[in-house]
Amino acid sequence: MIEYENLRKSNEPFYAEYQNIFSGILESGWFVLGNSVKNFEEEFARFVTMPHAIGVANGLDALILALRVLNFEAGSEILVPSNTYIATILSILQCRLKPVLIEPDIQTYNINPQKIEEAITKKTKAIMVVHLYGKACEMDTVTTLARKYHLEVIEDCAQSHGAMFKGKMTGSFGIGAFSFYPTKNLGCLGDGGAVTTSDEDFARNIRMYRNYGSEKKYYNETIGVNSRLDEIQAGFLSVKLKHLQRITEHKRKLASLYQQGLKEDFITPQVHPDYFDVFHIYNVRHPKRDGLKEFLLKNEIKTEIHYPVPPHKQKAMEGIFGKQEFPIADEIHATTLSLPISFGTTESEVLKVIEVMNKF
Ligand SMILES: *Cc1c(COP(=O)(O)O)cnc(C)c1O
Repeated sequence: MIEYENLRKSNEPFYAEYQNIFSGILESGWFVLGNSVKNFEEEFARFVTMPHAIGVANGLDALILALRVLNFEAGSEILVPSNTYIATILSILQCRLKPVLIEPDIQTYNINPQKIEEAITKKTKAIMVVHLYGKACEMDTVTTLARKYHLEVIEDCAQSHGAMFKGKMTGSFGIGAFSFYPTKNLGCLGDGGAVTTSDEDFARNIRMYRNYGSEKKYYNETIGVNSRLDEIQAGFLSVKLKHLQRITEHKRKLASLYQQGLKEDFITPQVHPDYFDVFHIYNVRHPKRDGLKEFLLKNEIKTEIHYPVPPHKQKAMEGIFGKQEFPIADEIHATTLSLPISFGTTESEVLKVIEVMNKF
């Protein structure tokens, strides 16, 4: 059986280093907000080419904390792609703001820059882009419009660690929100997240907000929450970050095998020199997606669907988007299939997947 992803296999190359880090933290007796978090924050900020990175509990919290600290008036509108993972939209709703869905570009699966301006109203406060599947959004238009209309840019980078647009890192265009959930390209062994920013005050406020609104122990300046990255996860993340380039190269190599080997019946991801893709997910589209998934499973190949139900059709979102229709999101969700592309997936496994796919 070729697995979609086996997290034990993906992490095995780092076991010795993880164990070393774990022992050190265990011996130190310091488990929350210590040197290990501080070091990782510095390393990660350098990686994203931003002055500040602040560790938080998970990716959803990274988005929520960014919005909370921006402190928009309730009911303000946040533009967000209609085909994103539900967490992006949850962050907006959790802050009592209004998500305004923008359809993606069917070629890139990312927010269609041509559809942003028409959605901007007096209530619009931010564009929340999502660098989905590990491909950066077209950021020229996004940043130009943000400047023109005085909007904040928040980047959901949960799938895009190291992905670039025109040589610039995702998470360095606006406010970056990262997840370190185990399956992500930079994944820890539990939950974790980070916010990146170039604004010193904003960084300070996120730091306070994640820790009860307190900078100095037992003195509270704002009404904060507890959303901290812990020492052990930060330690594991420092290990993984050192190897992230190797992880990315491996995924890019597997993606290039798919690109070269798959027959033309499958719609494969767009490749373009302006985009450095990190392939958190390698998807193809096919009108008979469900049949294809079943065919692959019969041939001992496991796949995933990212995602089976678009946000506007989720039960939780009933009544939120009224009668609006999002045919491009619907089309992507009905036809997309994700193929194995993890750090633990081998080239020969990918060649096997290609061989079976081409018989479909
Ligand atoms: C994983 C993910 C999140 C949420 O991250 P968690 O760490 O699981 O909270 C948010 N947005 C996108 C696009 C994701 O893929």
